[in-house]
Amino acid sequence: MEKGKGKGTIATLLDFAGERRILTYIGCALSAVAMAVNMAPYVCIWLVIRDLVAAAPDWTEATGIANYGWAAFGFAVAGIVVYFAVLMCTHLAAFRTATNIRKRCMEHLTKTPLGYFDTHASGLLRRRIDGAAAQTETLLAHNLADITGTAACMLAAVISIGALFAMMGGKNANLMAEYYDALDRASKAGTEYVRGIPVVKVFQQTVYSFRAFKEAIDAYSEKASYYQGTVCKGPQAVNLTATEGAFVFLVPAALLIAPGALAQGSFALFVTNFAFYAVFSAVISTALAKIMFAAGGLTQAGDALKRINEVLSAPTLPTCDSPETPTDNTIVFDGVTFTYEGAEQPALDGVSFAVEPGQTVALVGPSGGGKTTAASLVPRFWDVDGGAVRVGGVDVRNIDPHELMDRVAFVFQNTHLFSTTVLENVRAARPDATREQVLEALHAAQCDDILAKLPEGVDTRIGSDGTYLSGGEQQRVALARAILKDAPIVVLDEATAFADPENEALIQKAFVHLMQGRTVIMIAHRLSTVVGADRIVVLDQGRVVEQGTHAELVAAGDLYARMWADYQTAAQWKIQKEVA
Ligand code: ADP
Ligand code: MG
Repeated sequence: MEKGKGKGTIATLLDFAGERRILTYIGCALSAVAMAVNMAPYVCIWLVIRDLVAAAPDWTEATGIANYGWAAFGFAVAGIVVYFAVLMCTHLAAFRTATNIRKRCMEHLTKTPLGYFDTHASGLLRRRIDGAAAQTETLLAHNLADITGTAACMLAAVISIGALFAMMGGKNANLMAEYYDALDRASKAGTEYVRGIPVVKVFQQTVYSFRAFKEAIDAYSEKASYYQGTVCKGPQAVNLTATEGAFVFLVPAALLIAPGALAQGSFALFVTNFAFYAVFSAVISTALAKIMFAAGGLTQAGDALKRINEVLSAPTLPTCDSPETPTDNTIVFDGVTFTYEGAEQPALDGVSFAVEPGQTVALVGPSGGGKTTAASLVPRFWDVDGGAVRVGGVDVRNIDPHELMDRVAFVFQNTHLFSTTVLENVRAARPDATREQVLEALHAAQCDDILAKLPEGVDTRIGSDGTYLSGGEQQRVALARAILKDAPIVVLDEATAFADPENEALIQKAFVHLMQGRTVIMIAHRLSTVVGADRIVVLDQGRVVEQGTHAELVAAGDLYARMWADYQTAAQWKIQKEVA
């Protein structure tokens, strides 16, 4: 079972972070510190309010408030500094995670059969991996630290409220009773308020149509305005509280407590307590908002992991533990059977033929006969279902993949050039090749006319500023790549579909150059190319229906002879048309 299943999103992501996982932990711990430090200014503000209320009406007695102010400022700055450190830690871990995800996916894809990229375009895969990796960043870089920080902050809030009650000593019992009573009434008032919201929404009315509620608030503000001039932070706190939807019940709570508190003559106590809840509810609702964002980040990251797992669960080619070295470059197909995933008919069914070192074997036959499939089994685009493909006497599955890749150069119809310079595109076949060697290969592949028309010659980026190559031109560049690779075995799938007459002639020349002195399997659509092959294998519906030299097959008068006759008629037609 692959990674990530049955394991939490966060745990899986932390696995990807490797050693830098520790930075995530540090970041989370620091985040809790940052939260606590960030809460401190609010405590200071509350202390200011408390002192002012206690000193009323003789404000000069509240001597400590300047110190509280400075302390608040200090804590605010410290909070920013610590939070910056948090972001440093979490981002470093998050970037490493994203990089490792990309790396792991790419590593996995190198072990995936090349054929996988036929059905999953490699560009698309790359973008998908990049996108998914980036999507995990928000969670690791921001959300995770926020969650831990918030949890710590909540815990701290609970502890500090407890400590507060303890500090109140004798008044404790009274206060508790008052608190629960108010809470009860507040929640009832709150429920009524919330119940009314749909009505307000349905009728498109403003909240001010809640006449009774508004009047109550007005009445409260009237009373509160008395304190505005003196208790400087009070209105701001009230304002904040009123705007934080989740804690809007505090306002009705205040309204309900106020008359009772006034009656008991403990209005000062009420203001102090109210300021406490108002200030902290602002802090807590901000924290809750962060948790909500975190939930979004978690979903997104989970989603990304699902896509990453899809890539990581792509099948890989089994590698063999004790690879063998081929003795020469003979290629043997021995009763090869292969069926594409999901296909009902086998693409190849008991195919057997051999290519002696230095020989050229041509695969011909009707479209869909299995030519491309057979050719792609040599460089292990896929592995056979039955039988074996052997190179130099060794089953390709028992050859070290690097060794096999070094031995086999292939040019297939759907050649992809990378969006880099022509030079780098060709050099991809042999990274240590010099510029001169690349230019030589391009020359041998008849690419001189292509280089001449490109604005910066061999250094022109393909795909930039509308520099696109035609199909035939792309195939010639791909041939240059194969020529540069200088591998003893060449597998060629001729691309007539793309080629115009001039390109076709040039491609033929490049072919001849590439085939010299090598063991070749070629798929030719134009039978004129095939005539000179050492052996021709005719594939129809996944089976070898006949094989031999051109002369033998023509003499036999079967499928190949018919194809040859058709081909000649078509060629005749073409010549007549050109003459006309
Ligand atoms: P040819 O090259 O002779 O035209 P192919 O080897 O391309 O024939 O195809 C042989 C058979 O395998 C055809 O029936 C084709 O539809 C099928 N086939 C080819 N490629 C794939 C693929 N990637 N997935 C599924 N079926 C495929
Ligand atoms: Mg084909």
